[in-house]
Amino acid sequence: MTTWFLMLAVSFRTTDRVLTSVIWWCVVIWLGLVGGAVGSFLTVVWDRLGTGEGFVLPRSRCPECDRPIRWYHNVPVLGWLLLGGRCYDCGGRIPVKHPLTEALVGLIFILIGLMTPWL
Ligand SMILES: [Zn+2]
Repeated sequence: MTTWFLMLAVSFRTTDRVLTSVIWWCVVIWLGLVGGAVGSFLTVVWDRLGTGEGFVLPRSRCPECDRPIRWYHNVPVLGWLLLGGRCYDCGGRIPVKHPLTEALVGLIFILIGLMTPWL
């Protein structure tokens, strides 16, 4: 009986540790994604400041062919990497400042999150 209870206690501790680890990684990934999205928005502000264009609309466009960037190509950092830094439609270069800013702000969000006592 005691052995069974100890095995159950160890099992709960292991499950608890694994669950805590999974939640921790989910929060870190979520912080990176939110930070990446904020970084993406900041590059839009950077590009459009002083041009009279809105910061939300029109949607992100290729700087070469002016076609809208599809939502699945606009995922922070990953979209740029998957397309090799080029526009899907015309092959024009997408400036490296976009993924760099997204990665930097994502990293800042993760670091701030890790410095808070709740994580
Ligand atoms: Zn293009």
